[in-house]
Amino acid sequence: MPACAYLDHNATSPIRPSVLDAMVEALSEGGNPSSVHRVGRRARARVDAARRQVAALVGALPAEIAFTSGGTEANNMALRGAGRNRVLVSAIEHESILRAVPEAEVIPVDGRGLVDLAALERLLAKPEPALVSVMFANNETGVIQPVAEVVRLARAAGAMVHCDAVQGAGKARVDLRDLGVDYLSLSAHKLGGPTGVGALAVRAGAAFVSDRNGGGQESNRRAGTENVAGIVGFGAAAEAARDGLDAAILRDRLEVALLAIAPGAKVHGAAAPRLVNTTCISMPGVKAETQVMALDLAGVCVSAGAACSSGKVTRSAVLSAMGVNPAEAEAAIRISCGWNTASEDIDRLIAAWKALYIRVTHSELSQARAA
Ligand code: PLP
Repeated sequence: MPACAYLDHNATSPIRPSVLDAMVEALSEGGNPSSVHRVGRRARARVDAARRQVAALVGALPAEIAFTSGGTEANNMALRGAGRNRVLVSAIEHESILRAVPEAEVIPVDGRGLVDLAALERLLAKPEPALVSVMFANNETGVIQPVAEVVRLARAAGAMVHCDAVQGAGKARVDLRDLGVDYLSLSAHKLGGPTGVGALAVRAGAAFVSDRNGGGQESNRRAGTENVAGIVGFGAAAEAARDGLDAAILRDRLEVALLAIAPGAKVHGAAAPRLVNTTCISMPGVKAETQVMALDLAGVCVSAGAACSSGKVTRSAVLSAMGVNPAEAEAAIRISCGWNTASEDIDRLIAAWKALYIRVTHSELSQARAA
């Protein structure tokens, strides 16, 4: 466990002790689930148990779950495997959606960060049957999308629906059947499981063709020897996350405190339903990188907008799509809590943010006086 206030769970959530224990046991035992001997059968039993645990987290049937190498692979599989030539994606999707089908048509979002349902309806009016991909909750703002409404519009137009629930599962109630989607993507490391494992839920009866050649694993949906220990860890994390769905809400206390420190601060997506763990906030006039570094020096880990794979901070496409002005977007950091966040972590963040704000405003004042 890092000796800091780790408030970057949307980037990755620290592994839960119960997950680690389950994985060590599975790794020590080894075995290929396709082998017919006892070691193989035990590995198969572990994978099957994990499949039930992950299915239970999202109201799916175990047979509907195909394990993958993570959320990125699940998203790519859904967009390609649905077999629809026309794909509609929201403007705030993760890059693994936006880049999977570069020619996809984009559904805009409004200033609250919610997908524009009227625009979707217009796009769906074209006769060609489509696949619509709208995420459950956004990774930067935490804004929860009206997925059931999206499904209603899509069904009326004969379209299929994929939902990237990587950031929603384990943080809010996500139910495949209640949402009514055909495909649902999940990732273990966002809920206290290991990196490198995820799942695609394919609703029974929904079309799916794998473009991967190899063995018949995962009911022919994802060829390749299963990552048994990773899958076991995912199952344990899913079970723990299900038990912890009602975890205390620290977000509201945090936001009230930060807004009181810097009256010009702005919480993005505050007018929409949001995940209880996520705050995207701009400190007026202070670049996100400056904030992230200052907070890091004070032992607080947060991220600047989207955690970008190269480690470089670029302007947030999500905030741009919401119409946030560039100066505010460049000053936005993301604070995301999780299973091991304690009240003291929030106190530490508030104190460090306050110290930075006072430093910046004082140095601006002294510069103005000197000028
Ligand atoms: N989808 C969303 C919304 C995400 O936030 C992420 C990761 O940040 C992914 C997909 C990719 O998941 P993974 O890291 O498991 O590939």
